[in-house]
This record gives sequence, C-alpha cells and structure tokens, in this order.
Amino acid sequence: MRIGAHLRQDDDPIGIGESLGADIVQLFLTDPQKWDKPEPHPQTERILRSPIDVVVHSSYVINVASLNNRLRMPSRKAVADQAAAAAEIGALGLVVHGGHVRDGEDPAAGVTNWRKLFERQQDKGGFAVPILIENTAGGDFAMARHLDAIARLWDAVGEFGAGFCLDTCHAWAGGEELPGIVERIKGITGRIDLVHLNNSRDEFNSARDRHANLATGTIDPAMLTDIASAAGAPLILETPAEGIADDLAYLRDALTAG
Ligand SMILES: [Zn+2]
Repeated sequence: MRIGAHLRQDDDPIGIGESLGADIVQLFLTDPQKWDKPEPHPQTERILRSPIDVVVHSSYVINVASLNNRLRMPSRKAVADQAAAAAEIGALGLVVHGGHVRDGEDPAAGVTNWRKLFERQQDKGGFAVPILIENTAGGDFAMARHLDAIARLWDAVGEFGAGFCLDTCHAWAGGEELPGIVERIKGITGRIDLVHLNNSRDEFNSARDRHANLATGTIDPAMLTDIASAAGAPLILETPAEGIADDLAYLRDALTAG
C-alpha cells in the first residue's frame, strides 16, 4: 500500500518525499488560492525518474458546480490546465473538490455542471489525467458532502470515468458515519482511487474542515487505519506538518500489524 503526504512546500517534492520515506506525495502546481496557470515544474525530470508516485491537488478557488458563469468558466479551464500540468509530471490524478451551489440554488443544476465539465472535455479527447472528485465537509448545498448527494453526482459523471478521493476528516465532520463507509462509497462509485487520511479537530457533523494528526483528533485512530486497509488505495496524509513523520510511522506500524 502506498503511503505519503501532502507537501506544503512544493519546489522539491521528491527530496521531501524521500526524507519522509513516502511512497507517494501530493502537491499543488499553482498557488491554490489563485487562478494562475501552472508553469512547467522545475523538477519534472526528477519527478518522472523517481519511484515516488505523485498526485496533484487542484486549486481551492475551483468550483465547477457553480451556477455563476464568472466562477464556473475559469474553473473548467483551470481543471483542464491543471490536469495537463499533472500529466507532465506523471501524476496519477488530479483531486478536485466536489464544490457547491449557493444557498437556495438548485443542487441538481450543480450536478449538471459537473456533467458538462466532462462532456465538453470529452470533445477534446478527455482530461490528461483522471479527475478524482473529493468529498467535502460543509454546506447544505454541496455536491459531495453526503452520500446521497454523491450518488446523484455519480449518476451524472460516473460514465466519464470520474475517480473518487475519500477524505476521512471531511466525511466525519460532514456527518457520515465512518464504520462501513468504504463499502458504502464503493457501492455508489464502484471505486476509491485515493484516501486523504486525516483526523479531525472537530466533532462529528460539525461541518468544519480542520485536519488533525492521526492520534490527536476526535476520530478513533483505529477507525482510520480500518478505512486505510479497507480502501485499497494510496493514502495521503494532509495532517499538520509537525506531526506528519509520527503519522506515517503510526500508519506503517498499524497496517503491518493488521
Ligand atoms: Zn482532503
């Protein structure tokens, strides 16, 4: 099982990955709060040569579900651009948050926008890497907070080969019971491509998105390792940086012992 972490500092992903003993690293290719188009990664050759796998997390500003043209249009372009840049470094996929419509808007219209993202790109030959849609923690008008919403989303995008990224903190804080969640999600999507294995600083169904190190949050760490084993997908820690080495060690021990 490949285990690794999201890197806050992105200029030397392989060097940092090696120092952590990671099998896989996740990185941004642009400032996640901006709309900048990704530049070629300065370490492309090294990343491609390294046995460490990479996955790219898309920018936080992206919301492909949005009913607002001025947000949706740049979001579509950013997903395509960032998928192309992810392919340049051999990434296994591009993680994109499920997004949301605004309070009072029709979530079905947001689902239609997700479908259009894939339909339009299909005319251009599809995305350069798989798009991994991530569940989110908050909001009553989210596309991928609750499993019933994920089921409606998958009815619209499943046929385009969309992948799924399960974030354990988001599921818990979003109000989804964790026991059996891997099976329930696979029952909907048929797949889990990546796990963001995070504990939560907040309580169940708090709708808050604050990640905690594995042994220090409100989720029983044994539950997290159960999910890690059951998912059968690469694991990325997005936990606070100062505890990541301990989280990796804990996870390796728990998964080998189990
Ligand atoms: Zn995540």
